[in-house]
Amino acid sequence: MKRTGFVYDERYLLHTTGEYHPESPERLKAIYKGLSDSGLLDKLVMIAPEKAGQQWIEAVHNIHYIMKFEETCIMGLPEFDHPDNAICRDTYEIALLAVGGVLKAIDAVMEGEVDNAFCAVRPPGHHAEVDKPMGFCYFNNVAIGARYLQKQHGIERVGIIDFDVHHGNGTQHIFDQDSSVFYYSVHEHPSFAYPGTGREFETGVAAGNGFTRNSPILPGRGDDEYRKVIMQDLVPAFKQFRPEVVLLSAGFDAHISDLMSGTNLTTEGYDFVTEVIVNLVDKFADGRVISVLEGGYNLDILPLLVENHIKMLAHMR
Ligand SMILES: [Zn+2]
Repeated sequence: MKRTGFVYDERYLLHTTGEYHPESPERLKAIYKGLSDSGLLDKLVMIAPEKAGQQWIEAVHNIHYIMKFEETCIMGLPEFDHPDNAICRDTYEIALLAVGGVLKAIDAVMEGEVDNAFCAVRPPGHHAEVDKPMGFCYFNNVAIGARYLQKQHGIERVGIIDFDVHHGNGTQHIFDQDSSVFYYSVHEHPSFAYPGTGREFETGVAAGNGFTRNSPILPGRGDDEYRKVIMQDLVPAFKQFRPEVVLLSAGFDAHISDLMSGTNLTTEGYDFVTEVIVNLVDKFADGRVISVLEGGYNLDILPLLVENHIKMLAHMR
């Protein structure tokens, strides 16, 4: 069994989004209760988050954007830039705490306190651009984590695997000219799928060409398609890139029962995705993986999917 860290803080529930918003505090409550009821929580190493320092946010985001986000929250406005991005007065501080949770998990892995970690944080991050909030995301937790690994821990090659059903447009754009961060995403496309980016020909820009890989999945497709692209696209790309540390944008909204998508990935299909990732990370990245919650909106299945994912990280199944 591996020592798996777990980032959680009740303050993550303080980011409220209104009564009907799918990215609700109930998501984390359900995950925490599921892990607690199953007894898995007792086997994890708790990691207490702290708010991320401003310099780490600025490693990815534009300073004017950061200030506008803080001001918009302080003014008590109900949304930031778009109705998708519901906010409250606490959202800015809690977004700092979400980033900070990821940074603490990275420290714990890099300092050998744990082998790997799962961050049950919100708000999520992978849609957030350098200077724009999108799709419930304000600060790009995983992108900031990648820069932190490089600047604070001297890591040269960071691999990001994004299996949220939506394309991580923000993460892709932040690193698309960068050959030191490989971004891989499997997501639903095309049809109505948000955000519309992530086509196969998007492979990076200039010096970053060849360091972005996208595997679009058609609506209605599920386990077979996921197996195919994970083996054909992700595995060879990471064998070649050899990331030293891997960050996951772990979204559980591709599940067949999640109404936020048209894909039909089953619970077993999710197990397969995690299993392949764990094998890759063990082989190339010394087992160092920090998994960060993105989407997942069906509260009846989300806790089980997270539990299965963490058990595989911990080599308990
Ligand atoms: Zn999503």
